[in-house]
Amino acid sequence: MEAEILVVEDEPSIAQLEKLYLESEGFTVHLCADGASALAAAEGGTVDLALLDVMLPDMDGFTLLGRLREKHLFPILMVTARVEDLDKITGLTLGADDYVTKPFNPLELVARVKTQLRRVRQYNPGRGAAAESLDIRGLQISRETHQCLLYGERLNLTPLEFSILYYLCRNQGRVVSSEELFEAVWGEKYLDNNNTVMSHIARLREKMHEPSRRPRFIKTVWGVGYTIE
Ligand code: CA
Repeated sequence: MEAEILVVEDEPSIAQLEKLYLESEGFTVHLCADGASALAAAEGGTVDLALLDVMLPDMDGFTLLGRLREKHLFPILMVTARVEDLDKITGLTLGADDYVTKPFNPLELVARVKTQLRRVRQYNPGRGAAAESLDIRGLQISRETHQCLLYGERLNLTPLEFSILYYLCRNQGRVVSSEELFEAVWGEKYLDNNNTVMSHIARLREKMHEPSRRPRFIKTVWGVGYTIE
């Protein structure tokens, strides 16, 4: 998973530990030791997620959380050693997405970071500059122009069909369940909508002139969902 993580932590040994584990997962890590530099780093607009220590030298992590939330929607995880902070963190008003307590297990921290990133990507498949335009073996799809070309020829897709195809392309290599696909594209809770998903996939394949027995792009994974390899 690729992402830029902002780590705000004034204790160097903890900062280094977080950096080490996050980088070993392929994340890019920006370390900041205080709130002011964290706010400046977030201004760049490339941060995908932030980890905030609650006790910082220039402002507390809650103030920083509030200041970040004024402008940014990326997930924010709070890191705290104080039990008395937990009520504040778990209160919904502040806008933190999750928290870990010190001392933490670095693997658990990484798992929580991944969960938050997946959640955001699942519901906002267009986030991240690299995802605007995709090309998979001659299938070109652009979120910006809302156009889809197959071997240079324009496919006439409905907005729903476009969203389905874009979502699958964006998640190339991963099997997307019907439930996930439905909730991401329709934006509603999935309640046995398998036929809806199936019929849209069928129409999409038809428009893409897919051979019915061996589709080249959207493959069915029986009992699970769909994938573009
Ligand atoms: Ca601290």
